[in-house]
Amino acid sequence: MDARYTLIDGLKRLLGDEQGTLFKQAPLKVALCYPSPYHVGMSSLGFQTIYRLIHQHPGASAERSFLPDDVDAWKKARLPPLTIETQSPVSAFDVLAFSVAYELEVTGLFTMLELCGLPVLREERGPDAPLIVAGGPITFSNPEPLEPFIDVLVQGEAEELVPILLEAAREGGGREAIRARLKDVPGFRCPGLSQEGTRFLVSKAGDAMLPARTQVITPHTELRSMFLIEPERGCSRGCHYCVMRRTTNGGMRTVPPEAVLGLIPDHARRVGLVGAAVTDHPRITELIQTLADSGREVGISSLRADRLTPQLVAALKAAGAKVLTVASDGASQRMRELVDRKHSEQQLIHAAQLAREYELERLKVYNLVGLPLETDADIDELVRFTTELSKILKVVLGVAPFAAKRNTPLDGSPFAGISVIEDRLERLRKGLRGKAEVRPTSARWAWVEYMLAQCGPEGGLAAWDAHQAGGAFSAWKRAFAERGCVPFVARRTVDGRRKATEWPTVGAQS
Ligand code: SF4
Repeated sequence: MDARYTLIDGLKRLLGDEQGTLFKQAPLKVALCYPSPYHVGMSSLGFQTIYRLIHQHPGASAERSFLPDDVDAWKKARLPPLTIETQSPVSAFDVLAFSVAYELEVTGLFTMLELCGLPVLREERGPDAPLIVAGGPITFSNPEPLEPFIDVLVQGEAEELVPILLEAAREGGGREAIRARLKDVPGFRCPGLSQEGTRFLVSKAGDAMLPARTQVITPHTELRSMFLIEPERGCSRGCHYCVMRRTTNGGMRTVPPEAVLGLIPDHARRVGLVGAAVTDHPRITELIQTLADSGREVGISSLRADRLTPQLVAALKAAGAKVLTVASDGASQRMRELVDRKHSEQQLIHAAQLAREYELERLKVYNLVGLPLETDADIDELVRFTTELSKILKVVLGVAPFAAKRNTPLDGSPFAGISVIEDRLERLRKGLRGKAEVRPTSARWAWVEYMLAQCGPEGGLAAWDAHQAGGAFSAWKRAFAERGCVPFVARRTVDGRRKATEWPTVGAQS
C-alpha cells in the first residue's frame, strides 16, 4: 500500500473514533497545531478550549494538526502535516496557532514548520506566509526562546484574546500588518515590534469563561475517552518552584459543582477533573461522589496530601480510582520547607494509610531532586521515609530533577549539575531497591529544559542549531556554548544589575 495513503488513512481513523469534532466553512482558516503527537495534544484542555472558541467566532474555523508519531515516515513520504478534520495541508491555512506546554516542545514546532516547507526563522518568511502564533502554558514562565520563530505570542489565559486575534487576522494585509495591529494590545507580544515591557505580561480570562472543558472525546489519548473539565483554575498556595502559584493571575478561582455537572454530556462515562489544585476546591468530595453515583469513572489531576480525608478517598474509590497520586516535591522536610510545600511526613503517611484502608493498589509520590541546598542527607531521608511508606502500601516514586522557572521565587537558582543529580538518583535507587519502584526523568534533558527556561531568544536559536545538528544531547551542549547562552540570573549578576540570588530562608513566605 502507498505510504502516503497509509499515513492519511491513520488520520481518518483517528477522526472516525472522535466524538464532538467541529466542522465549519469560514473565511478565516486557523490550523491549531500541537507540537507533540495526537495522544498528548488531545489531553490538553487548553488546546481543546481554543478549538471550541475559534469555532464560536462567526468568521473563523479551526482544524487540528499534531506532530506525527513517526516523523521519519512523513518525511520519507514527502507529506506535509495535515489536519485531522479534512486532511488538508496545514501550510494552506491563514493562521498556524501552536499551543506549547513546555520548553522541549520547541523542537516539535521546528519539525512541523519544516514539514510544512515554511522557513522556521520568522525573518526568513515572506509577506505571504501564514501568520505563526504561539501560546499555551509556557507563556506563564518564559516564552522568550520562541521569539525568533513566532509572529505573535499570546501570553497567559487565551480565552478573551482569541476573538481579538481572529479579528486582527481577518482584516488581512499580510503578516506584518496583522502584527502591527496586535503589537500594543495587552496580552499579545509581537517579537521585534512590541515594547520590552510587554514581556511576561500574562492575560487572565474573566470568570464567565470558566470552566474549560473537552470538546472532542477520543479513545486515542493517554486519558482514554475521558471528558476533561476544570472545576478550578489557578492555585492559592505558594510553592516556590511553581509557575501556577498564587501570584499568577490572582490565585484559585472555583466553579460550583452544579455548573461543572451541567456541562458534562450524558455520553461521557469517564470524567477527568483538571486544575492546578483540584483537591483545594471546597466542594470536591461532593463533586466526585455525585459523579460516582451517576456511574462515572473519575480521574483527578492533582491530589494534595494535606487535603485527603476518608470521605474524599472513599469517593475516589467509588469513582474507580486504583492509585492515589500525591506530590511531595522535596526529598526531606527541610527541602519541603525551603520550597514552601506545606505538608509533612505525617500527612503523606496518612495518605498511604487511607489508600490502604480503601483498598487502592498503590501510592504514587512525585518528588523533586536537585533543589538548592540539597545534600545527600536529604536523599537519605527520602530513602528512609519512602521505605516507611512502602511498609503501608506499594509505592512508586516519580522523580524529576529541579529546573528553575522564570517568574517564581526560585527563578535563577542554578541547576544542581547533571552528575550530581545522576549520583543522587543512583543513591535513591540503591537505597530503595526491593522496596519501591523509582521512576526518574533524565538529568540531561532536565538541564536542557533549565537552559531554555532561563535563557532568552538566544536559547531558542541554540535549540534550532541543536535540532538541525540532529538533536542529540551533545548537539544541545555545543549549541548553548556556541550561542553564548547564560542563564538570566548569572547574566544579571555579571551585569551588576541584580545581586546574586539569595535562597529563600527555610519556611519563608512569599
Ligand atoms: S505546586 Fe501545586 S500546590 Fe504548589 S503552588 Fe503549584 S499548583 Fe499550587
